[in-house]
Amino acid sequence: MKDEEKNAMSGSATLNSGGVSSAASQRRKTEMILAKDNSTAPVLEADNVTIRYGSNAAIKDFTLIMPERRITAIIGPSGCGKSTLLRSFNRMNDFIDSLNIDGKFKYRGHDLYAASVDPVEVRRRIGMVFQKPNPFPKSIAQNIAWGPLINGIASKGGSGGLRDVDDLIEKSLRQAGLWDEVKDRLGESGLALSGGQQQRLCIARALAMEPEVLLMDEPCSALDPVSTMRIEDLIFELKESYTIVIVTHNMQQAARASDYTAFLEDGHLIEFGETEQVFTRPEKKRTEDYVSGRFG
Ligand code: ADP
Repeated sequence: MKDEEKNAMSGSATLNSGGVSSAASQRRKTEMILAKDNSTAPVLEADNVTIRYGSNAAIKDFTLIMPERRITAIIGPSGCGKSTLLRSFNRMNDFIDSLNIDGKFKYRGHDLYAASVDPVEVRRRIGMVFQKPNPFPKSIAQNIAWGPLINGIASKGGSGGLRDVDDLIEKSLRQAGLWDEVKDRLGESGLALSGGQQQRLCIARALAMEPEVLLMDEPCSALDPVSTMRIEDLIFELKESYTIVIVTHNMQQAARASDYTAFLEDGHLIEFGETEQVFTRPEKKRTEDYVSGRFG
């Protein structure tokens, strides 16, 4: 049996002993791991991607598949390329002039960077939640309503076959586990909420756009432990309906909350596998050192 088949059988995709596995072999390993999870389908893919800022590559020969209605955690030391990767999936990096992408980012098999693709539509389907809660300086209700109203998803009273904006506000806040806390103060500023509530408001705001995917860039790193647990529980509930990709520095969080984990170092994928395997039986020494807190 070839090494890569052995790795895939043991539930892990790793670099080969020579350092870097080819894009084709990374893909095969990943597909073999995901094939065991037969109730899911690929939603997002990075297919042999290299991302450069000017001449500096932040992501190198990178292949990864994110399956439907699963939580994929992206872990690795600071500066290894996690945010660069995550932001490329919803074209947030379009605004950085020096950034250049080789290879393909795909959403359900479609090239996310094809000339015919509207980046605004990409960001509607692939929502993003940031590290620091960033509510608009508007009321709680307006924070939710603004995006759906200007993007033609909702209208007052639901006219024109659109969603009723008040229903959508309630639904989104319920989904984010915030409704009971704010239902009597929807007119108050979103900035008057606690940090944990603000982050749930931002999640509600993303959900109101009816995305299929939620990208989360260290969504709990600015929060206290109790708020963190609430958000983790929420992420776990959302997985029933959404595909979630979470960048985290918190190893317990990755181990608790995710189904699959990708470990990156210096822009390379070092190991991808089921979270339980990556944390308890990592294939690579580098992964073991990182998840056990020996560096990073
Ligand atoms: P991580 O999220 O893992 O901390 P980043 O994706 O933020 O890593 O950064 C990866 C590499 O890309 C780092 O070397 C960083 O300095 C570089 N980088 C990130 N953003 C920019 C930018 N806007 N311009 C130039 N280099 C950047």
